[in-house]
Amino acid sequence: MTSGEPARVGVPEAPRSTSAQVTPLARLGDEIVACRRCPRLVAWREAVARDKVARFAAESYWGRPLPGFGDPDARILLIGLAPAAHGGNRTGRVFTGDRSGDFLWSALHATGMADRASSRRADDGLTLRGEYVAAAVRCAPPQNRPTPAERDACGPFLVRELGLLAAVRVIVPLGGFSWEAALRTLAALGEAVPRPRPRFGHGGEASIGPYRLVGSYHPSQQNTFTGRLTPAMFEAVLRRARELAGLSAPEASGRLSAPGSGAP
Ligand code: SF4
Repeated sequence: MTSGEPARVGVPEAPRSTSAQVTPLARLGDEIVACRRCPRLVAWREAVARDKVARFAAESYWGRPLPGFGDPDARILLIGLAPAAHGGNRTGRVFTGDRSGDFLWSALHATGMADRASSRRADDGLTLRGEYVAAAVRCAPPQNRPTPAERDACGPFLVRELGLLAAVRVIVPLGGFSWEAALRTLAALGEAVPRPRPRFGHGGEASIGPYRLVGSYHPSQQNTFTGRLTPAMFEAVLRRARELAGLSAPEASGRLSAPGSGAP
């Protein structure tokens, strides 16, 4: 934090990677967590963390940006929209501690890419195999609606994260906003994005350089409660992503093996 930035209220100091953990991804994670580039989002995420909601009043909120989470050798990258105010912004991990996360982890478990079907806390030991989960925007936005300017301000983090995830070949943007973020990320990495630009749709696909995009509706409550996105629809996209990524079928234990990853 620079000397010209406002003091944070009610947000404890962020933990940083220890020397034993310092990989390029962990260093990037530290940088993301320390970011205060978007004044509107910084103010919102910290106000939510300070004021809380009654059901989580006894909890200490994270109140900061969220780095991605998952398998550093992932072949599939999921891109969410942004942390939820009382989900990731509270627990400190993407899709952790809210209904969207319940839906997402359950589907990842059903398709063999997560070792459990639910996750409520960042320290629960959740392990992903073959999969990495990030977001187009790393701070919780008011009404779950980041602006295009905030997407563009945060975009360089996604570019660098994907650059460090060398095994990723399939990208699953969750929703049209994340689809656009994925296209911009690939363009920033020097890939030729076709014109006209591939349009977002649930199950829609596009090939860009060495990457394959597979779109999915976002597992927001608005989509899952109304049936616009069902578990079967979401799992079908994940199975297609897994097939495109060359990941083998899940074993009976629910674990995946990936050629060359050292996974069983
Ligand atoms: Fe920084 Fe991204 Fe959060 Fe903006 S949204 S403050 S760029 S981490």
